[in-house]
Amino acid sequence: MKVEIIAVGTELLTPDFQDTNSLRLTAGLNSIGLKVSFKTIVGDDERDLTRVLRTALGRSRLVLCMGGLGPTEDDRTRETLAKILRRKLVFHKEIRARVRERFKRRGLPMSASNLKQCYVPEGAEILDNPNGTAPGLWLETKRYTIVLLPGPPQEILPMFESQVLPRLTGSGRGLTVRRIIRLTGLGESAMETRLKDVYAAAPAGVTITTLASPGDLSIRLTMSGKISRLAAVALLDGLEGMIGKALGPWIYSRNGESLEEIVGALLRDRSMTIACAESCSGGLLGHRLTDVPGSSDYFLESAVVYSNRAKTRRLGVPAALIEKHGAVSAQVARAMALGIRKTSGADIGIAVTGIAGPGGGTPRKPVGLVYAAIARGRGTKVLRNLFFGGRAQVKFQSSQKALDLVRKTLAPTPGKVL
Ligand code: AMP
Ligand code: MG
Repeated sequence: MKVEIIAVGTELLTPDFQDTNSLRLTAGLNSIGLKVSFKTIVGDDERDLTRVLRTALGRSRLVLCMGGLGPTEDDRTRETLAKILRRKLVFHKEIRARVRERFKRRGLPMSASNLKQCYVPEGAEILDNPNGTAPGLWLETKRYTIVLLPGPPQEILPMFESQVLPRLTGSGRGLTVRRIIRLTGLGESAMETRLKDVYAAAPAGVTITTLASPGDLSIRLTMSGKISRLAAVALLDGLEGMIGKALGPWIYSRNGESLEEIVGALLRDRSMTIACAESCSGGLLGHRLTDVPGSSDYFLESAVVYSNRAKTRRLGVPAALIEKHGAVSAQVARAMALGIRKTSGADIGIAVTGIAGPGGGTPRKPVGLVYAAIARGRGTKVLRNLFFGGRAQVKFQSSQKALDLVRKTLAPTPGKVL
Protein backbone atom coordinates (compact mmCIF):
# COMPACT_ATOMS: atom_id res chain seq x y z
CA MET A 1 0.00 0.00 0.00
CA LYS A 2 1.50 3.32 -1.09
CA VAL A 3 1.48 5.95 1.62
CA GLU A 4 1.97 9.63 1.03
CA ILE A 5 2.34 12.70 3.22
CA ILE A 6 1.51 16.24 2.18
CA ALA A 7 2.56 19.23 4.27
CA VAL A 8 0.63 22.40 3.47
CA GLY A 9 1.92 25.82 4.46
CA THR A 10 3.66 28.65 2.65
CA GLU A 11 5.97 29.12 5.65
CA LEU A 12 7.33 25.61 5.07
CA LEU A 13 8.71 26.80 1.72
CA THR A 14 10.74 29.61 3.29
CA PRO A 15 14.23 29.23 4.77
CA ASP A 16 12.77 29.72 8.26
CA PHE A 17 10.54 26.69 8.85
CA GLN A 18 10.97 22.96 8.54
CA ASP A 19 8.33 20.32 8.01
CA THR A 20 9.14 18.41 11.17
CA ASN A 21 5.71 16.83 11.59
CA SER A 22 6.23 14.42 8.74
CA LEU A 23 9.27 12.91 10.46
CA ARG A 24 7.16 12.00 13.46
CA LEU A 25 4.35 10.74 11.28
CA THR A 26 6.79 8.59 9.34
CA ALA A 27 8.19 7.10 12.55
CA GLY A 28 4.68 6.19 13.67
CA LEU A 29 3.71 4.72 10.31
CA ASN A 30 6.92 2.68 10.17
CA SER A 31 6.24 1.31 13.61
CA ILE A 32 3.09 -0.37 12.29
CA GLY A 33 4.74 -1.56 9.10
CA LEU A 34 3.75 1.21 6.70
CA LYS A 35 6.41 2.74 4.52
CA VAL A 36 6.13 6.29 3.18
CA SER A 37 6.65 6.52 -0.57
CA PHE A 38 6.15 10.23 -1.23
CA LYS A 39 6.33 13.49 0.70
CA THR A 40 5.33 16.83 -0.73
CA ILE A 41 5.45 20.32 0.68
CA VAL A 42 3.09 22.79 -0.92
CA GLY A 43 2.23 26.41 -0.12
CA ASP A 44 -1.18 27.80 0.77
CA ASP A 45 -2.22 28.10 -2.83
CA GLU A 46 -5.41 26.48 -3.95
CA ARG A 47 -4.27 25.63 -7.45
CA ASP A 48 -0.99 24.12 -6.32
CA LEU A 49 -2.69 22.19 -3.56
CA THR A 50 -5.27 20.89 -6.02
CA ARG A 51 -2.52 19.57 -8.24
CA VAL A 52 -0.67 17.97 -5.38
CA LEU A 53 -3.78 16.32 -3.94
CA ARG A 54 -4.86 15.02 -7.36
CA THR A 55 -1.45 13.49 -7.94
CA ALA A 56 -1.45 11.93 -4.48
CA LEU A 57 -4.90 10.42 -4.84
CA GLY A 58 -3.89 9.01 -8.19
CA ARG A 59 -0.92 7.09 -6.88
CA SER A 60 -1.38 6.42 -3.16
CA ARG A 61 -3.77 4.36 -1.13
CA LEU A 62 -3.32 6.42 2.03
CA VAL A 63 -2.79 10.18 1.97
CA LEU A 64 -2.04 12.11 5.12
CA CYS A 65 -2.36 15.83 4.57
CA MET A 66 -1.53 18.34 7.29
CA GLY A 67 -1.83 22.07 7.72
CA GLY A 68 -4.21 24.63 6.32
CA LEU A 69 -7.17 23.69 8.49
CA GLY A 70 -7.04 26.93 10.48
CA PRO A 71 -9.66 29.68 10.56
CA THR A 72 -7.78 32.17 8.39
CA GLU A 73 -8.35 32.96 4.74
CA ASP A 74 -5.16 31.23 3.59
CA ASP A 75 -6.19 27.93 5.16
CA ARG A 76 -7.85 26.22 2.20
CA THR A 77 -7.17 22.51 2.56
CA ARG A 78 -10.71 21.52 3.55
CA GLU A 79 -12.33 23.45 0.71
CA THR A 80 -9.83 22.29 -1.86
CA LEU A 81 -10.33 18.63 -1.02
CA ALA A 82 -14.11 18.99 -1.11
CA LYS A 83 -13.86 20.49 -4.60
CA ILE A 84 -11.59 17.73 -5.88
CA LEU A 85 -13.86 15.03 -4.53
CA ARG A 86 -16.95 16.92 -5.64
CA ARG A 87 -18.37 16.71 -2.17
CA LYS A 88 -20.44 19.37 -0.50
CA LEU A 89 -19.20 21.05 2.64
CA VAL A 90 -21.69 20.40 5.39
CA PHE A 91 -22.02 22.38 8.57
CA HIS A 92 -21.44 20.43 11.79
CA LYS A 93 -23.11 21.85 14.85
CA GLU A 94 -21.04 19.63 17.14
CA ILE A 95 -17.85 21.26 15.94
CA ARG A 96 -19.34 24.69 16.58
CA ALA A 97 -20.37 23.63 20.08
CA ARG A 98 -16.87 22.36 20.83
CA VAL A 99 -15.12 25.44 19.50
CA ARG A 100 -17.52 27.71 21.38
CA GLU A 101 -16.84 25.77 24.55
CA ARG A 102 -13.10 26.14 24.01
CA PHE A 103 -13.38 29.91 23.69
CA LYS A 104 -15.74 30.12 26.68
CA ARG A 105 -13.25 28.37 28.93
CA ARG A 106 -10.77 31.10 28.10
CA GLY A 107 -13.41 33.79 28.63
CA LEU A 108 -13.37 34.82 24.97
CA PRO A 109 -16.14 35.09 22.40
CA MET A 110 -15.89 32.72 19.43
CA SER A 111 -14.79 34.66 16.40
CA ALA A 112 -16.78 34.44 13.19
CA SER A 113 -13.78 33.12 11.26
CA ASN A 114 -13.88 29.94 13.33
CA LEU A 115 -17.21 29.06 11.74
CA LYS A 116 -15.20 28.04 8.71
CA GLN A 117 -13.80 25.14 10.68
CA CYS A 118 -17.31 23.74 11.22
CA TYR A 119 -17.70 22.87 7.53
CA VAL A 120 -16.68 19.35 6.64
CA PRO A 121 -16.70 17.50 3.28
CA GLU A 122 -19.72 15.24 3.16
CA GLY A 123 -19.02 11.74 4.45
CA ALA A 124 -15.92 12.67 6.41
CA GLU A 125 -15.50 11.49 9.96
CA ILE A 126 -14.37 14.02 12.51
CA LEU A 127 -11.22 13.48 14.55
CA ASP A 128 -11.39 15.34 17.81
CA ASN A 129 -8.64 17.89 18.49
CA PRO A 130 -8.29 18.44 22.25
CA ASN A 131 -5.47 20.94 21.77
CA GLY A 132 -6.93 23.30 19.18
CA THR A 133 -10.00 24.43 17.28
CA ALA A 134 -9.44 22.64 13.97
CA PRO A 135 -10.75 19.08 14.02
CA GLY A 136 -9.07 16.43 11.91
CA LEU A 137 -10.96 14.67 9.14
CA TRP A 138 -10.94 11.08 8.02
CA LEU A 139 -12.33 10.30 4.60
CA GLU A 140 -12.47 6.83 3.20
CA THR A 141 -13.48 5.67 -0.25
CA LYS A 142 -13.06 2.36 -2.01
CA ARG A 143 -9.83 3.55 -3.60
CA TYR A 144 -8.16 5.51 -0.89
CA THR A 145 -8.15 6.90 2.61
CA ILE A 146 -7.36 10.54 3.11
CA VAL A 147 -6.71 12.07 6.49
CA LEU A 148 -6.59 15.82 7.08
CA LEU A 149 -4.76 16.99 10.16
CA PRO A 150 -3.94 20.40 11.66
CA GLY A 151 -0.41 21.78 11.28
CA PRO A 152 0.68 22.88 14.76
CA PRO A 153 2.84 20.11 16.21
CA GLN A 154 1.18 20.26 19.62
CA GLU A 155 -2.15 19.55 17.91
CA ILE A 156 -1.30 17.04 15.21
CA LEU A 157 1.08 14.79 17.13
CA PRO A 158 -1.31 13.78 19.95
CA MET A 159 -4.14 13.34 17.43
CA PHE A 160 -1.98 11.19 15.21
CA GLU A 161 -0.88 8.97 18.10
CA SER A 162 -4.27 8.55 19.71
CA GLN A 163 -6.66 8.58 16.76
CA VAL A 164 -4.92 8.00 13.45
CA LEU A 165 -2.37 5.30 14.26
CA PRO A 166 -4.84 3.01 16.07
CA ARG A 167 -7.14 3.11 13.01
CA LEU A 168 -4.31 2.23 10.69
CA THR A 169 -2.82 -0.55 12.78
CA GLY A 170 -3.14 -3.83 10.96
CA SER A 171 -3.25 -2.27 7.51
CA GLY A 172 0.51 -2.52 7.04
CA ARG A 173 2.37 -5.51 5.68
CA GLY A 174 4.67 -6.85 8.36
CA LEU A 175 6.67 -4.37 10.32
CA THR A 176 9.74 -2.19 10.23
CA VAL A 177 12.46 -2.35 12.83
CA ARG A 178 15.27 0.14 12.78
CA ARG A 179 18.58 0.53 14.52
CA ILE A 180 20.98 3.44 14.40
CA ILE A 181 24.66 2.94 15.15
CA ARG A 182 26.67 6.13 15.59
CA LEU A 183 30.41 6.65 15.27
CA THR A 184 33.03 9.32 15.46
CA GLY A 185 36.73 9.57 14.78
CA LEU A 186 37.05 8.12 11.31
CA GLY A 187 36.25 9.21 7.79
CA GLU A 188 33.33 8.17 5.65
CA SER A 189 35.35 6.21 3.11
CA ALA A 190 37.26 4.37 5.83
CA MET A 191 33.94 3.38 7.33
CA GLU A 192 32.57 2.22 3.98
CA THR A 193 35.66 0.10 3.34
CA ARG A 194 35.30 -1.60 6.69
CA LEU A 195 31.60 -2.20 6.07
CA LYS A 196 32.10 -4.20 2.85
CA ASP A 197 31.54 -7.60 4.49
CA VAL A 198 28.54 -6.31 6.37
CA TYR A 199 26.86 -5.12 3.15
CA ALA A 200 27.53 -8.49 1.60
CA ALA A 201 26.06 -10.34 4.57
CA ALA A 202 22.87 -8.29 4.86
CA PRO A 203 19.85 -10.54 4.39
CA ALA A 204 16.94 -9.68 2.10
CA GLY A 205 14.65 -7.12 3.63
CA VAL A 206 17.45 -5.29 5.39
CA THR A 207 18.65 -1.96 4.10
CA ILE A 208 21.86 -0.40 5.31
CA THR A 209 22.27 3.31 4.83
CA THR A 210 25.06 5.51 6.09
CA LEU A 211 25.07 9.18 6.87
CA ALA A 212 28.21 11.26 7.31
CA SER A 213 28.92 14.76 8.50
CA PRO A 214 32.24 16.14 9.75
CA GLY A 215 32.92 14.43 13.07
CA ASP A 216 29.85 12.26 13.10
CA LEU A 217 28.77 9.16 11.20
CA SER A 218 25.77 6.93 11.47
CA ILE A 219 24.78 3.57 10.09
CA ARG A 220 21.08 2.86 9.85
CA LEU A 221 19.85 -0.69 9.68
CA THR A 222 16.25 -1.10 8.62
CA MET A 223 14.47 -4.43 8.47
CA SER A 224 11.02 -4.44 6.99
CA GLY A 225 8.79 -7.21 5.83
CA LYS A 226 6.57 -10.00 7.02
CA ILE A 227 8.60 -11.10 9.97
CA SER A 228 8.08 -11.26 13.70
CA ARG A 229 9.58 -8.49 15.80
CA LEU A 230 11.73 -11.02 17.61
CA ALA A 231 13.17 -12.40 14.36
CA ALA A 232 13.79 -8.90 13.01
CA VAL A 233 15.59 -7.88 16.19
CA ALA A 234 17.71 -11.04 16.04
CA LEU A 235 18.69 -10.27 12.44
CA LEU A 236 19.69 -6.74 13.32
CA ASP A 237 21.60 -8.01 16.37
CA GLY A 238 23.64 -10.22 14.04
CA LEU A 239 24.50 -7.34 11.74
CA GLU A 240 25.23 -5.07 14.65
CA GLY A 241 27.69 -7.66 15.95
CA MET A 242 29.51 -7.66 12.61
CA ILE A 243 29.58 -3.87 12.56
CA GLY A 244 30.94 -3.91 16.11
CA LYS A 245 33.81 -6.15 15.01
CA ALA A 246 34.62 -3.95 12.03
CA LEU A 247 34.27 -0.56 13.67
CA GLY A 248 34.23 -1.15 17.46
CA PRO A 249 36.60 1.57 18.68
CA TRP A 250 34.74 4.31 16.80
CA ILE A 251 31.22 3.30 17.79
CA TYR A 252 29.80 5.41 20.57
CA SER A 253 26.15 4.46 20.40
CA ARG A 254 24.15 1.45 19.24
CA ASN A 255 20.68 2.85 19.72
CA GLY A 256 20.92 6.24 18.12
CA GLU A 257 21.81 8.16 21.28
CA SER A 258 23.89 11.31 20.91
CA LEU A 259 27.47 11.40 22.16
CA GLU A 260 26.50 13.79 24.96
CA GLU A 261 23.83 11.35 26.14
CA ILE A 262 26.33 8.50 26.15
CA VAL A 263 28.94 10.54 28.02
CA GLY A 264 26.29 11.66 30.50
CA ALA A 265 25.23 8.07 31.16
CA LEU A 266 28.85 7.01 31.70
CA LEU A 267 29.41 9.83 34.19
CA ARG A 268 26.18 9.09 36.03
CA ASP A 269 26.97 5.36 36.24
CA ARG A 270 30.29 6.16 37.83
CA SER A 271 28.94 8.99 40.01
CA MET A 272 31.50 11.33 38.50
CA THR A 273 31.32 15.03 37.70
CA ILE A 274 32.69 17.01 34.79
CA ALA A 275 33.65 20.61 34.01
CA CYS A 276 34.87 22.17 30.77
CA ALA A 277 37.29 24.88 29.71
CA GLU A 278 36.39 26.08 26.25
CA SER A 279 38.29 28.31 23.91
CA CYS A 280 37.48 27.69 20.24
CA SER A 281 34.30 25.70 21.02
CA GLY A 282 32.86 28.88 22.56
CA GLY A 283 30.48 27.15 24.96
CA LEU A 284 29.31 24.40 22.62
CA LEU A 285 30.62 21.70 24.95
CA GLY A 286 28.63 23.06 27.86
CA HIS A 287 25.61 23.49 25.61
CA ARG A 288 25.73 19.92 24.37
CA LEU A 289 26.27 18.43 27.81
CA THR A 290 23.38 20.42 29.27
CA ASP A 291 21.09 19.49 26.38
CA VAL A 292 20.65 16.16 28.10
CA PRO A 293 17.86 16.13 30.70
CA GLY A 294 19.20 15.37 34.15
CA SER A 295 22.71 16.62 33.32
CA SER A 296 22.81 18.53 36.61
CA ASP A 297 23.70 15.17 38.18
CA TYR A 298 27.17 15.33 36.69
CA PHE A 299 27.79 18.63 34.87
CA LEU A 300 29.32 21.34 37.10
CA GLU A 301 30.32 24.18 34.82
CA SER A 302 31.85 25.29 31.58
CA ALA A 303 34.15 28.27 31.37
CA VAL A 304 34.44 30.02 28.01
CA VAL A 305 38.00 31.24 28.27
CA TYR A 306 38.53 32.86 24.92
CA SER A 307 41.27 35.36 25.67
CA ASN A 308 44.73 34.55 26.97
CA ARG A 309 43.98 36.65 30.00
CA ALA A 310 40.87 34.63 30.79
CA LYS A 311 42.87 31.41 30.54
CA THR A 312 45.31 32.75 33.08
CA ARG A 313 42.88 34.51 35.41
CA ARG A 314 40.12 31.94 35.38
CA LEU A 315 42.11 28.71 35.13
CA GLY A 316 45.54 29.64 36.38
CA VAL A 317 47.25 28.79 33.10
CA PRO A 318 50.68 30.47 33.53
CA ALA A 319 51.05 33.48 31.23
CA ALA A 320 54.60 32.33 30.53
CA LEU A 321 53.32 28.98 29.25
CA ILE A 322 50.99 30.75 26.79
CA GLU A 323 53.80 33.09 25.83
CA LYS A 324 56.17 30.21 25.18
CA HIS A 325 53.93 27.72 23.35
CA GLY A 326 51.01 29.84 22.19
CA ALA A 327 47.37 29.55 23.31
CA VAL A 328 46.83 26.83 20.72
CA SER A 329 49.25 24.20 21.98
CA ALA A 330 49.25 20.85 23.71
CA GLN A 331 50.83 22.42 26.80
CA VAL A 332 48.10 25.05 27.18
CA ALA A 333 45.32 22.55 26.47
CA ARG A 334 46.67 20.31 29.24
CA ALA A 335 46.99 23.24 31.65
CA MET A 336 43.40 24.30 30.85
CA ALA A 337 42.03 20.83 31.59
CA LEU A 338 43.97 20.64 34.86
CA GLY A 339 42.94 24.21 35.71
CA ILE A 340 39.20 23.68 35.24
CA ARG A 341 39.33 20.37 37.08
CA LYS A 342 41.05 21.98 40.03
CA THR A 343 39.00 25.19 40.23
CA SER A 344 35.64 23.46 39.72
CA GLY A 345 36.35 20.48 41.93
CA ALA A 346 35.06 18.14 39.21
CA ASP A 347 36.36 14.58 38.80
CA ILE A 348 37.05 15.21 35.14
CA GLY A 349 38.16 18.39 33.40
CA ILE A 350 38.09 18.72 29.63
CA ALA A 351 39.50 21.52 27.53
CA VAL A 352 39.52 22.64 23.94
CA THR A 353 41.77 25.20 22.31
CA GLY A 354 42.23 25.71 18.59
CA ILE A 355 41.88 27.87 15.52
CA ALA A 356 38.31 27.85 14.22
CA GLY A 357 39.06 30.14 11.28
CA PRO A 358 38.53 31.38 8.71
CA GLY A 359 41.36 33.78 9.72
CA GLY A 360 44.16 33.35 12.23
CA GLY A 361 45.96 30.39 10.69
CA THR A 362 49.72 30.19 10.07
CA PRO A 363 51.73 27.54 8.25
CA ARG A 364 52.75 26.02 11.57
CA LYS A 365 49.35 26.41 13.13
CA PRO A 366 46.76 26.20 10.36
CA VAL A 367 43.02 26.79 10.62
CA GLY A 368 41.43 23.64 12.02
CA LEU A 369 44.28 22.85 14.40
CA VAL A 370 42.59 21.96 17.67
CA TYR A 371 43.91 20.45 20.88
CA ALA A 372 41.49 18.57 23.10
CA ALA A 373 42.60 17.61 26.58
CA ILE A 374 41.25 15.65 29.51
CA ALA A 375 42.37 15.65 33.12
CA ARG A 376 41.26 12.92 35.46
CA GLY A 377 42.93 12.73 38.84
CA ARG A 378 46.49 13.68 38.08
CA GLY A 379 46.43 11.89 34.73
CA THR A 380 46.04 13.89 31.54
CA LYS A 381 45.78 13.17 27.88
CA VAL A 382 45.97 15.60 24.98
CA LEU A 383 44.99 14.98 21.36
CA ARG A 384 46.19 17.07 18.46
CA ASN A 385 43.65 17.30 15.63
CA LEU A 386 43.47 18.94 12.27
CA PHE A 387 39.85 19.46 11.31
CA PHE A 388 38.50 20.44 7.91
CA GLY A 389 35.50 22.62 7.25
CA GLY A 390 34.23 26.06 8.13
CA ARG A 391 34.02 27.64 11.53
CA ALA A 392 30.86 25.81 12.59
CA GLN A 393 32.29 22.45 11.57
CA VAL A 394 35.56 23.08 13.40
CA LYS A 395 33.66 24.09 16.53
CA PHE A 396 31.44 21.03 16.35
CA GLN A 397 34.34 18.65 15.75
CA SER A 398 36.22 20.20 18.68
CA SER A 399 33.34 19.48 21.02
CA GLN A 400 32.90 16.02 19.53
CA LYS A 401 36.57 15.15 20.05
CA ALA A 402 36.53 16.33 23.65
CA LEU A 403 33.37 14.37 24.44
CA ASP A 404 34.78 11.29 22.75
CA LEU A 405 37.89 11.63 24.86
CA VAL A 406 35.68 11.39 27.94
CA ARG A 407 33.89 8.37 26.50
CA LYS A 408 37.14 6.57 25.73
CA THR A 409 38.55 7.40 29.13
CA LEU A 410 35.51 6.06 30.97
CA ALA A 411 34.75 3.10 28.73
CA PRO A 412 38.05 2.22 27.12
CA THR A 413 38.04 -0.40 24.42
CA PRO A 414 40.66 -3.12 24.91
CA GLY A 415 44.15 -1.80 24.28
CA LYS A 416 43.03 1.81 24.46
CA VAL A 417 43.25 2.47 28.19
CA LEU A 418 44.26 5.98 29.14
P1 AMP B 1 -1.91 25.43 10.09
O1 AMP B 1 -2.73 26.56 10.59
O2 AMP B 1 -2.63 24.16 10.30
O3 AMP B 1 -1.45 25.65 8.70
O4 AMP B 1 -0.63 25.33 11.00
C1 AMP B 1 0.07 26.46 11.36
C2 AMP B 1 1.19 26.24 12.35
O5 AMP B 1 1.68 24.90 12.39
C3 AMP B 1 2.37 27.07 11.98
O6 AMP B 1 2.95 27.58 13.17
C4 AMP B 1 3.31 26.11 11.30
O7 AMP B 1 4.63 26.52 11.37
C5 AMP B 1 3.05 24.80 12.00
N1 AMP B 1 3.19 23.72 11.04
C6 AMP B 1 2.39 23.49 9.97
N2 AMP B 1 2.78 22.42 9.27
C7 AMP B 1 3.89 21.95 9.90
C8 AMP B 1 4.77 20.85 9.64
N3 AMP B 1 4.59 20.04 8.61
N4 AMP B 1 5.80 20.66 10.49
C9 AMP B 1 5.99 21.49 11.54
N5 AMP B 1 5.19 22.53 11.83
C10 AMP B 1 4.15 22.78 11.02
MG1 MG C 1 -0.85 27.20 7.51
